Amino acid sequence: MYLKEKSIAPRTNWAGNYAYQAASLLTPASIDELDELAELQQLLPTLTHVKALGARHSFNSIADTIGTQISLAAFKSKSLDTSDPAHPTVTIGAGVTYGDLAPWLHAQGFAVPNLASLPHISVVGACATATHGSGIANQCLSAAVSAIDLVTAGGELLHLSRSANPDIFPGAVVALGALGIVTSLTLDLEPTFQVVQTVYENLPFHELEHSLLHIFSAGYSVSLFTDWQQHRASQAWVKRKLTGPEPPPDPKTFFGATRQTAKLHPLPRHSAENCTEQLIPGPWHERLPHFRMDFTPSSGAELQSEYFVPLAEGFNAIRAVEELRDRITPHLFITELRTIAADDLWLSMAYARDSLAIHFTWRPETDAVLSLLPLIEAQLAPFAARPHWGKLFTTPSATLQQLYPRLADFRELASQLDPHGTFRNDFLTALLV
Ligand SMILES: Cc1cc2nc3c(=O)[nH]c(=O)nc-3n(C[C@H](O)[C@H](O)[C@H](O)COP(=O)(O)OP(=O)(O)OC[C@H]3O[C@@H](n4cnc5c(N)ncnc54)[C@H](O)[C@@H]3O)c2cc1C
Repeated sequence: MYLKEKSIAPRTNWAGNYAYQAASLLTPASIDELDELAELQQLLPTLTHVKALGARHSFNSIADTIGTQISLAAFKSKSLDTSDPAHPTVTIGAGVTYGDLAPWLHAQGFAVPNLASLPHISVVGACATATHGSGIANQCLSAAVSAIDLVTAGGELLHLSRSANPDIFPGAVVALGALGIVTSLTLDLEPTFQVVQTVYENLPFHELEHSLLHIFSAGYSVSLFTDWQQHRASQAWVKRKLTGPEPPPDPKTFFGATRQTAKLHPLPRHSAENCTEQLIPGPWHERLPHFRMDFTPSSGAELQSEYFVPLAEGFNAIRAVEELRDRITPHLFITELRTIAADDLWLSMAYARDSLAIHFTWRPETDAVLSLLPLIEAQLAPFAARPHWGKLFTTPSATLQQLYPRLADFRELASQLDPHGTFRNDFLTALLV
């Protein structure tokens, strides 16, 4: 049975900048996923407008609907499959967050290749928007998905896998909730690993002109932070994978930047207490995110935007944004620069191109941010910048159409699986015109 959440106050996303319009939110009454799955199959054909809600961490209307939101947060199942030792996998219920999954996987000797900056997001919601971490060879988190179970608007339970459905699977992983309610995902695993992170301060931007690739290849995962002032990255976070018992060499200087002498927060004058351990090796899930699992990341009240440009154009794109520095900095907590390896997922921001992602953590000043975004987007237009689906952007629909070569195929897939537009919302309608 699905229960209607009774709420007098408007329900909002995590950042509080978006109030859901959905008339109601339904949640399963029990954690018996099989029972509730059967109920869901009966329920969906009776509804006209539906959207799955994950952990509410997107900054825009992507998870909203004028009808009914459905949250499967109670679906917490996790099941390892090691029957093929060369290809271990885990199948998880739609409510599992990376915070639920990662320590559990590590305890059993496994890992997923990468993580985002915070653990509170649901795996399904994150993979629906091509959420990513950093790393020159690391693809977005969705690239680890090898199978999906979803219930369509007509109530059909579909099992899609990379091996059995190679023609449509790359369109069904980063699907922005447009194809149905995903009830479980299967992820490819690798053996657990150890990481050590070192922070360097003050990396001059001119080093990026000829050494951008070397800088981002210096570790398994590398992030640069900047407030766009003084033509420099205020910090470089280099996360190296341990391949033996000893940590890899840790030079005192790094492309003009100086190795830290104490644990640091990406924002100046913020306590580093809530950051993951630096300088001391530890398991992947306690080093790849910048923030500890038990703390609210960054400043809490914030907005975010992010744009993906071709990695080869990374330096020029950074220079283009830098021209706006005096407009950007007053409204900014911090910018993070990360790299994402190309993939074949039709709506991934890194589709078919190795990417540099230019991220902005903004102060919670919606009007100022929304008036700045078109300026940033104009600066990045020559680089065919793809905005992160889950963050704030103002890129017009006509531009988005040109940025995704497989968008027409996705539109076709969505209309096959959802012919009456049950899962369409304003966000998707603008995209799938
Ligand atoms: C503090 C903070 C830090 C962040 N850090 C990063 C980062 O490091 N890297 C990055 O790339 N992004 C980051 N993000 C963005 C975030 O990862 C994405 O917005 C992600 O999609 C949020 O997942 P969610 O579980 O909250 O899903 P929601 O925001 O609730 O939903 C997102 C989408 O998933 C769909 N969805 C959810 N559940 C289902 C389901 N069961 N079936 C079908 N569709 C479903 C929704 O319909 C919607 O389209 C961050 C966000 C915040 C607030």
